[in-house]
Amino acid sequence: MYTEKEILQAGELIEKARRMVFFGGAGVSTESGIPDFRSQDGLYSQKYKYPPEQILSHTFFERYPEEFYKFYRDKMLFPNAEPNAAHRKLAQWEREGKLSAVITQNIDGLHQKAGSKRVLELHGSVWRNHCTRCGKSYPLEAVLESTGVLRCECGGIVKPDVVLYEEPLDGAVLEAAVKELERADLLIIGGTSLNVYPAAGLIDYFGGNNIIVVNKGEPARRRNGVLFLDGKIGEIFSKFD
Ligand code: NAD
Repeated sequence: MYTEKEILQAGELIEKARRMVFFGGAGVSTESGIPDFRSQDGLYSQKYKYPPEQILSHTFFERYPEEFYKFYRDKMLFPNAEPNAAHRKLAQWEREGKLSAVITQNIDGLHQKAGSKRVLELHGSVWRNHCTRCGKSYPLEAVLESTGVLRCECGGIVKPDVVLYEEPLDGAVLEAAVKELERADLLIIGGTSLNVYPAAGLIDYFGGNNIIVVNKGEPARRRNGVLFLDGKIGEIFSKFD
């Protein structure tokens, strides 16, 4: 559990920062009611016919689109979720000109819903979908209002614009994330186990000196000189100005 002294130390670093970057994951949205993957009550602790890593892979999507869509609609879509204090604070810091980008592994669109403009979505978004044959775009509503495998009017299968296991990350998004990290003077990492690569490796591009980690439990990767606040990110972020 974090201490008040750590909150003060983090607050001072944030106060001084002029170009912060936030790097986050599923833990940022648990306080909005969206389960993460690796917590005790996360998706990976529940039992399915196939393990979630397998269902969320490119091969599985191609072979068993019916099963994929069933799991995806049941477990990955939270269209009514609302941003929490962490999303809102990041949007506020961007408006104030202190934060230059949010780099997220999340696919829920909650940073944008909170008002953040520069959001680099490493793993895509459930709000966008496209036909694997003709490329036509479909909104999230098309997925929600259909049953079974969503098909395009051309007959092709529609795929959510989320990066599945075995798929590469978008090169332009990666490049933009690296640039932001290289120029940042403070990196805040939050709500991520730092277990998913290549996303987790990106933090090595950070060019500044100060890193704050806000997470329930220590993430997989350690770095010296990091200020670690162990706790809920929404609760902690609401303590900062
Ligand atoms: P993860 O599940 O591996 O790790 C989440 C981390 O956040 C854990 O260390 C957990 O202890 C911590 N955490 C949970 N609630 C927290 C809170 N309120 N405050 C602070 N920390 C909290 O998630 P990951 O590292 O993002 O990697 C999993 C992958 O799953 C990502 O690629 C992501 O795309 C995807 N995912 C996204 C969503 C979403 O969009 N909301 C949800 C589930 C999974």
